[in-house]
Amino acid sequence: MYLVKSPWLLKKLYLSLTWDIKPAKPCIYLTFDDGPIPIVTPVVLNILKQYHAKATFFCIGDNVSKHPDVFEQVKNAGHAIGNHTYNHLKGWKTPAKTYIDNTLKADELLQTNLFRPPYGRITRSQIKLLKSVKPEINIVMWDVLSGDFDSSLNPEKCLANVLKHTQSGSIVVFHDSLKAFDRLEYVLPRAMEVWSGAGFEFNCLNHDL
Ligand SMILES: [Zn+2]
Repeated sequence: MYLVKSPWLLKKLYLSLTWDIKPAKPCIYLTFDDGPIPIVTPVVLNILKQYHAKATFFCIGDNVSKHPDVFEQVKNAGHAIGNHTYNHLKGWKTPAKTYIDNTLKADELLQTNLFRPPYGRITRSQIKLLKSVKPEINIVMWDVLSGDFDSSLNPEKCLANVLKHTQSGSIVVFHDSLKAFDRLEYVLPRAMEVWSGAGFEFNCLNHDL
């Protein structure tokens, strides 16, 4: 069970986290979690390039160490890099110290102040500990969850959900993963075509945070 649109109450309860952005110009912030993955991530890079878009990739440390060449492609294309832990840990099921150590291990490869907790699940004590060891860290959640990881969701419905809930300043989550690829490949170019036609820009999070 997941919600496509993050509820305002949840945003209010966790004010120290970033949920959306107030951009100066109409802008959508595309984010891609769980890569870098051969074939999938390069396809995403190609689509972004067609729209002169910059995005943010929340990478899993273990994937970066397995696929350093794909990681280089993401960086060389000028996109922002975010940390998504080394082993995609579940915050609610992991002791705070283990969680932070795993995040810092990923940071050795990723070198970034942007962090997104896997599954969007992080405890208050993990937030506190993470901010104490890395005060400049920006914990980024989202405004719109595409559901591209959901194999029971058909690509047309996934596209409709994303278009319905996204507005200027939205942080939208996609996944450059094998699991999401069928939907991602269908939804991303079509959504970008609509947004770009409506005059939206696409920037990485670093640009406006
Ligand atoms: Zn993830």
